[in-house]
Amino acid sequence: MKFSELGLSPELLRAIADQGYTVPTPIQAKAIPLVMEGHDLMACAQTGTGKTAGFTLPILHRLAASKPSGRQHVRALILTPTRELAAQVAESVRDYGAHLAFKSLVVFGGVGIVPQIAALKKGVDILVATPGRLLDLAQQKAVDLSGIEILVLDEADRMLDMGFIHDIRRVIALLPKTRQNLLFSATFSDDIRALAGSFLVSPSYVESERRNTAPELVEQAVYRVDRERKRELLIELIKQNDWHQVLVFTRTKWGANGLAEKLTKAGIEASAIHGNKSQGARTRALGDFKNGELRVLVATDIAARGLDIEQLPFVVNYELPNVPEDYVHRIGRTGRAGASGKAVSLVCVDEDKLLRDIERLIKKSLPALTHPGFAVDATIAPQPIANRSTGQNKPQAAKVARNMGTKKRSVSSNHPDEARRLGATEKAREGEAKKPPRRSGSPERPMPKKTPGEQSAKTDHSAGQGRRQQRPFHSKAKATPKATRVSS
Ligand code: AMP
Repeated sequence: MKFSELGLSPELLRAIADQGYTVPTPIQAKAIPLVMEGHDLMACAQTGTGKTAGFTLPILHRLAASKPSGRQHVRALILTPTRELAAQVAESVRDYGAHLAFKSLVVFGGVGIVPQIAALKKGVDILVATPGRLLDLAQQKAVDLSGIEILVLDEADRMLDMGFIHDIRRVIALLPKTRQNLLFSATFSDDIRALAGSFLVSPSYVESERRNTAPELVEQAVYRVDRERKRELLIELIKQNDWHQVLVFTRTKWGANGLAEKLTKAGIEASAIHGNKSQGARTRALGDFKNGELRVLVATDIAARGLDIEQLPFVVNYELPNVPEDYVHRIGRTGRAGASGKAVSLVCVDEDKLLRDIERLIKKSLPALTHPGFAVDATIAPQPIANRSTGQNKPQAAKVARNMGTKKRSVSSNHPDEARRLGATEKAREGEAKKPPRRSGSPERPMPKKTPGEQSAKTDHSAGQGRRQQRPFHSKAKATPKATRVSS
């Protein structure tokens, strides 16, 4: 199928051509016609599937096809869980709307609210926002949501994980009753279904190929290593194999900081990106990483979520995630758009169960390698892993662990959107063991029933099975940092 067969306006087709795209991705081919027809939609799609264009294009098409009702007001609202994702989505809106006369704006916390208020005053058609900042703006009567025609919840599962459920409900309460609703989520848990049931009206359901199957192009391997030798091994792997543009995942913020520091000391330019970093620091680190000045970006799951970095060649799981789905999200950072990538996990004895859970989810066992000189000491006993990061500096870690055990965590005041939730709701966000998602309360409307499609989304994890890569990852392939679409 070609984009031209979807019935999109000539201005949109031109913008698509400007981006160099000719063929819609599967989620785009399924979602675009349904959204253009005005249906509410539940879409199961992960980052990297082209989901953003999947909702942005038909929204622009619909808004262009209908006249706004007199008064200047926001017509489409796109809610995202993180600032980085908000910025990326806003950039997509700008790119795809390049030949249309819409005004779009992105608002999120961690940066001054005054310029956002001023921009809203000038009139905005399409608003991309994180929920916390949007509510702040609404409270200050700086934004009028009474004319919203289309609402999108992007990465709804992550929004629930981050404790945004009440904010989402508060935002929805500010919207007019009649509107089109789109919900995009990488997973469809009971909580997501409850949320969907509470505000979608007779939704259509579409799903993209699961990213669990996509890592066809990602070589995955596990290096077995002792807990205390991970850092040493990582430094050796990066240096020996001349890896560049390596995205390294740690479980905790302090682990990310500590590891970035140690890598830098070892002569490997590295920086950490996580929720306690100021927006400026995050944007800078990301920019340096993408233009090749930074060899390693150390990130937590939340910070990395939604980052659109094309052709990222290496992902390292310095620590396995507590939730197996996050493994799939992490390695989805590489092997995109037909490019091959490598995902390496450094696994110590404490993480055996996490590794089993991941292998069960992706339905294959990962080849286990031992790096010369890093033979595992079989006498080391496993330790519980919650709240512990092998990259952290110990005194700080001990202090944090003490704080978490005895009193409410203190949070950075740099980030109103996130700090509020970190302190008040989801301990699970960053730096702590992830808990199962909370129940989101009783739905206002009956929940949509599982469809055969959803069932298959759960079970279709098998593609790529049988493809085993036993060789170690020696690669001289330097990343060609490609233009990416992050900041705005
Ligand atoms: P998303 O899942 O929306 O984050 O998109 C992932 C990446 O796919 C982005 O870099 C998009 O620019 C790119 N992309 C979106 N649609 C297409 C398409 N039809 N063909 C090729 N690449 C695309």
